[in-house]
Amino acid sequence: MHDTIHYFKDIGVEVFSTCIARDNIWSNEKINEYEKIINESIDFYIEEFPKCGIINKYMMFPIIERYYRRNNFCPAGTTLLGVSTNGDIYPCARFINNRSPYKMGNIKDGMNINSPIYHTLKNMNIDNITKCKNCPIHPGCMGQCMASSYESLGSIFKPIECVCEINKINYNASFKLYNSLKNNEDFMRIISNIIGLSST
Ligand code: SF4
Repeated sequence: MHDTIHYFKDIGVEVFSTCIARDNIWSNEKINEYEKIINESIDFYIEEFPKCGIINKYMMFPIIERYYRRNNFCPAGTTLLGVSTNGDIYPCARFINNRSPYKMGNIKDGMNINSPIYHTLKNMNIDNITKCKNCPIHPGCMGQCMASSYESLGSIFKPIECVCEINKINYNASFKLYNSLKNNEDFMRIISNIIGLSST
């Protein structure tokens, strides 16, 4: 990972973003391995940022969620849509798969604002998910993938436990990074830019 970060720095990248698979695929062993890698990379950013000014935007999302939070658990159907090859509109590409309850319209006719899923997603609020409402990292959680929850647990409203574990690791890492660099002007400028880019 460090080699990759140095490569980005060498080609002039200031901000890049990684993303984990938010699926029900994380064993305890893999979660522990992920935590070790994330902690190492956070220590790397804390030490290297003042010298090279490069940051992983993904690791800043818990901060952004904490202070500028979206209400939704996942952007599907609000700031994100998926369109099938025949023009049908779904909340995101992962909902395209003969999941007719999630069809939200067609590009020829536009969005069907009377569809139940349109209303469900428009009013989706993390505060209405019992497990999230009582979670210690809420607000500040990066949320989950509703399509993945639907696939593995049969409901778009059920957080996948192993993804919650990953979210908690990211949350702690993000705050460690923020608390270490919040007095650095360049770091705070990048945060402001990310907030600008993420406010849709
Ligand atoms: S970690 Fe899981 S339970 Fe907690 S807020 Fe995030 S998705 Fe909800």
